[in-house]
Amino acid sequence: MKIDVVPTICPYCGCGCGMNLVAKDGKVVGVEPWKRHPVNEGKLCPKGNFAHEFLHRDDRLTTPLIRKDGKLVPATWDEAISLIASKFKEIKATYGPDAMACFASARVTNEENYIMQKFARVALETANIDHCARLCHGTTVAGLAKSLGSGAMTNSIKDIEEAKCVFIIGSNTFEDHPLIARRVARAKKAGATLIVADPRYNMTAKQADLYVQFRSGTDVALINAMMYVILSEGLEDKEFIKNRTKGFDALKEEVMKCPPEWAEPITGVPADTIREMARIYAKSGASSLIYSMGVTQHSTGTDNVLSMSNLAMLTGNIGKRGAGVNPLRGQNNVQGACDMGALPNVVSGYQAVINPELRAKVCGVWGVKDIPGKVGLTIVEVMNAIDEGKMKSLFIMGENPMVSDPDVNHVEHALKAIDFLVVQDIFLTETAELATVVLPAAAYAEKDGTFTNTERRVQLLRPAIAPPGEAKQDWEIICNIAKAMGVAGFDFKSQEEIFEEVRKTTPQYAGMTYERLSKPEALHWPCPDTSHPGTPILHTAKFSHPDGLGIFFGVPFKYQAERPDAEYPFILTTGRLLFHYHTGSMTRRSATLDDEVKTGFVEINTEDAKALGVKNGDKVKVLSRRGEIEIAAKVTPDIMKGIIFIPFHFAECSANKLTIAALDPFAKMPELKVCSAKVEVI
Ligand code: SF4
Repeated sequence: MKIDVVPTICPYCGCGCGMNLVAKDGKVVGVEPWKRHPVNEGKLCPKGNFAHEFLHRDDRLTTPLIRKDGKLVPATWDEAISLIASKFKEIKATYGPDAMACFASARVTNEENYIMQKFARVALETANIDHCARLCHGTTVAGLAKSLGSGAMTNSIKDIEEAKCVFIIGSNTFEDHPLIARRVARAKKAGATLIVADPRYNMTAKQADLYVQFRSGTDVALINAMMYVILSEGLEDKEFIKNRTKGFDALKEEVMKCPPEWAEPITGVPADTIREMARIYAKSGASSLIYSMGVTQHSTGTDNVLSMSNLAMLTGNIGKRGAGVNPLRGQNNVQGACDMGALPNVVSGYQAVINPELRAKVCGVWGVKDIPGKVGLTIVEVMNAIDEGKMKSLFIMGENPMVSDPDVNHVEHALKAIDFLVVQDIFLTETAELATVVLPAAAYAEKDGTFTNTERRVQLLRPAIAPPGEAKQDWEIICNIAKAMGVAGFDFKSQEEIFEEVRKTTPQYAGMTYERLSKPEALHWPCPDTSHPGTPILHTAKFSHPDGLGIFFGVPFKYQAERPDAEYPFILTTGRLLFHYHTGSMTRRSATLDDEVKTGFVEINTEDAKALGVKNGDKVKVLSRRGEIEIAAKVTPDIMKGIIFIPFHFAECSANKLTIAALDPFAKMPELKVCSAKVEVI
């Protein structure tokens, strides 16, 4: 019997925990701790501990499938690749590149995202390349880039332990990023004050020294009122503001319109509580601000993110240990997929496609004359373009919009209407079921390459086993399609070869090599040359704008796109659970995790439930202007009155049948976190 213990990276959340896969005779039979790993030091959450369970399931995709007479039937790779290559060429010739789009993925490696965006721009010559960061941290990238010059988590995970105050807003860290929560717990044990602001008294809120229950969608009002207190009481960091920032007058003008008494009826937070949280945050000496999708998934998401950096800069809580603005990325490689340019406005390294000089630099490496110099369509815009008959083909790698995207009924209508849909995945997901061609891909345990976690740490994966059946590496499949289309520049032999090209086009990764990344601590970007040690903390001396200054923005409060009314009186908010991950394509196929939570539920406040006549466990109907679902009620005092919560993992009672696709004007982020809904007793 041959036993291998292979160190690699967890396939789930943005913590990027290291784990050892135990492989016996070509099968992964378990997960063991990786004790020296710098993120998780040998500990894993339940998802990581059982990350091997879905790998050997009978329903893994093992051969390409082509739709014939309405049914997906097995095909050879030659048949599948030549069909895709000829259809892509035909659609491009007939309708033009604007009628084509690609979705990359936060679940595959940096190298594979890089190849997908290169494929879109070089082989299809389309600007329409996006991925699911659009649905989680698109507003972080836009907001932090505007204010700080770089759209990433400023400090490292370990650094959270140094904080004297941890302010968590819109993040259920203890359920969704458990190995970051350990650092928060350590900071608290060492004396830090933990403030948690969230509409739900969730697992994270229960750890707080000060829990602030506030109405979903009112983040800007809450933060502006905190800043009003800070300025009124002279608690701002005057030296920091003077030496390291600009735009303070515009911020002050807006903030001084927002006293806590103004914010109280909007947010639901008593004015004195706002004063208390402002004083703790401003006076601690080192306050770490942590947020996640409770802040970002709004039609005002960029404004919300700007408020986070305003607050941190106002109090000098940035560019130093124990502080920072720390967005927690949802998926294991959402940071990397953005870094690699799987976005419609930038190529790898956040180099704007509209800038001819930056484009020319990348084109020089790629050996092409030019690539599309306009900003392409985002995920929701692609769905709308299909509906309008303008989009004829969509190539999706490792994403499941039939569960993850807002207004799923609209998504289903679009995906059924498109001429040619290619889906590349490890299982026949709800999205793959609608495809014209399905391509079987390798899972994380079957590949090398790199993931970049939420703290910008670039880490190496190592394969423990071979892919099942005829499944192939994602990068290999894309390269084969490009070559079948007769396009040069895709003749790679390995992910390492691709990474070497990444280094040439992506300044933040230039100093990284697989050899350097093979050490457990790996490297945080930016790492501009091979002697550079990496950068765990950003903005220590200057911000990433050309003049080195951080920029304040006065941000007026705006309500969400859809407000409760007599017909739809509740605010619906959505989120994740400890035992499940995103669309459930992996965790719902892991027996242990599936056993923990079998299906979805709607949390309803005890008083609201009483008024409706709903008891715990009752089946209810939840309706919005976009759809309806039947789901079990979970009656609890832990959720704010007037708000209901549904986890979005479960296709059979899909929260996203109800959510709204209203978009943030800057980042085109849909408003997944708030819409209006009603509850009916069945
Ligand atoms: Fe995996 Fe995240 Fe859990 Fe770590 S915290 S084991 S990365 S799911």
